[in-house]
This record gives sequence, structure tokens and C-alpha cells, in this order.
Amino acid sequence: MRANAANTSGLALNVGFLLNENIGHKSLFTVDEAAPSLDPELQLSRLAGSVQLTRTPQGLYAAGRLHAGHTAECVRCLAPVPVTLEADIAELYSLASSADADTEFTISDSALLDLAPLVRELLVLDKPAHPLCRAECKGLCAQCGTNLNEAACTCSAETLDPRLAPLSRLKTKED
Ligand SMILES: [Zn+2]
Ligand SMILES: [Zn+2]
Repeated sequence: MRANAANTSGLALNVGFLLNENIGHKSLFTVDEAAPSLDPELQLSRLAGSVQLTRTPQGLYAAGRLHAGHTAECVRCLAPVPVTLEADIAELYSLASSADADTEFTISDSALLDLAPLVRELLVLDKPAHPLCRAECKGLCAQCGTNLNEAACTCSAETLDPRLAPLSRLKTKED
């Protein structure tokens, strides 16, 4: 695993030419990163989509949608679950030099608009809270760890029906 989280070249857009345009001018940027390294905690297989930038008095308004392949982990059995994460972008990037640069995101003095921090935030928010490999996933046995989708285990038979528990206690009393 490469740890160059700072390498976000594909999302750092050179917008110098756009800043020289009139208010309202639009330009479409396409993104297609084979192995984006936005965040070491967020493994992505591919990041693609398009973002339209519109010149505004304060800077540039970014609007678009990117999607990324991500492998989540089933909360019940820990199996890999492929999911698509989406980043719906609708954000104003103000010029760093602008007097009213009160937005969260800015365009650097060297006219670079880096979408990476915003996209990272949006993709993380889109991660499923409870990914499941399948709706009826049986999970792992809490006692022996057997993947119950693939095999049965002896302890699962004993704990399958909690109503049987009092019976087993009675048995031990009789002993
Ligand atoms: Zn599962
Ligand atoms: Zn078991």
C-alpha cells in the first residue's frame, strides 16, 4: 500500500484560464482516477465522473457527481462487500485572495482548485453504515467463529433456540 495521500493530482484542477473568464462562464472537468489515494482509511478502486465549474464573483461554483468503487466489510460475517460510493458536489470555491473568502474551500493563489478534501468528505459520508454481503447473511457463530453461511457448527445447534435453555438447566438440576 502506498502512503502518498498527498498525491491527488487528478482532483487538483488548474483553473487559471477559467478565472479570466466572465461571470457565468462554465467549464466541464472529467475525473477518472484508476487508483485514487484520497485517504489511507478509504480504499477506492476507481474514481470517475464530471464536475462543472462556473465562474462567480467570488470564485468558482463546483457542481457534479463522482462515483468510486469501494470494498466494504459485511457487519455480520466480515466478507468483502463491493459498493459504489457517490460524491454529490455542490460547493462554492472562493479565491484565496478574495476579501470575502469565507467559504470552507478556496482556490489557491496558483489557481489550483483541489476537489480532494471535499470529495473525500462526501465519499466517507456515503459509506454504508451496516453493509451486508446479502440480506439473509447468517453471520459468524459468536462462540466458535464459523461462517454460518458456509457451514454449520455444533455450538450453533445448542444455542439455536433460546427456549431450550431452561430445559437444559432442569436436566442439570436432576443430576
Ligand atoms: Zn455477511
Ligand atoms: Zn459455533
